[in-house]
Amino acid sequence: MYIADGHTHCDHSHDSFVPAREMIENALAQGASYMAMTDHCDKDYALIPAFADVPQIDLERHFAESRALKAEYAGRLDIAVGLECGYYAPADKLYADILQKYKTDVVINSVHVAHEEDCYYPEYFTRGRREAYGIYLQAVADSVKAEFPYDVIGHIGYVARKAPFPDRALRYAEFPDLLDEILRGIIERGKALEVNGRGTGIPYIPEDGILRRYRELGGELIAYGSDAHYPQLQLIHFKEVCAGLKALGFKYLFHYLEHKPIAAEIE
Ligand SMILES: [Zn+2]
Ligand SMILES: [Zn+2]
Repeated sequence: MYIADGHTHCDHSHDSFVPAREMIENALAQGASYMAMTDHCDKDYALIPAFADVPQIDLERHFAESRALKAEYAGRLDIAVGLECGYYAPADKLYADILQKYKTDVVINSVHVAHEEDCYYPEYFTRGRREAYGIYLQAVADSVKAEFPYDVIGHIGYVARKAPFPDRALRYAEFPDLLDEILRGIIERGKALEVNGRGTGIPYIPEDGILRRYRELGGELIAYGSDAHYPQLQLIHFKEVCAGLKALGFKYLFHYLEHKPIAAEIE
């Protein structure tokens, strides 16, 4: 079985303290054949005064180190040089410039900020579930139309990670119209939907109802990502993701090199 982790962080990201080499060695120890180094590029935070103190990635260091490691491990582990760009419409141009300047294999486009608020903090949820999730999903719908080149829409349902509600997973039935718009947008643009192994009361996100609908609409491109910031979370729920996707009728997972999707059969 080909094991590919399309979404990881290391100490190039402000919220990880683990050297890249440690993440790579652990991926190898777990039998992975591919690992994407998708450290945070947070121009969303940079442009919103309340978050301006969030440390920004050192792009020179990130690309120099990840390219050197990619070369060093060639033949043992396919390392994708990447970024996870935090979507925020006014940052589109900044991302486009960065992605023109630095060569990447894969770019994940993720929403962390909705209504200029971080949906990771408790204050965000005081507006109630319907509004908190709705605002988040509208940001995801906008992100699909982003004007910078990206490959994968990251962790749909992320809003639930820190939500204080019982059964907090974001489900298809709650927002069918908005989710249809998002899924159709991903398919029309030839992008991939990420299945993220860090679920919220469920093993992975998005939940099966959203994945089922994606397939019904003709979606095929699916990428697994652990979103690990330290070794213990690498490849988390990979087996559950494979079993879940297989049960829904998906045959392949995809991973990216030079922005090209490569299919690996789900076993
Ligand atoms: Zn993220
Ligand atoms: Zn991430």
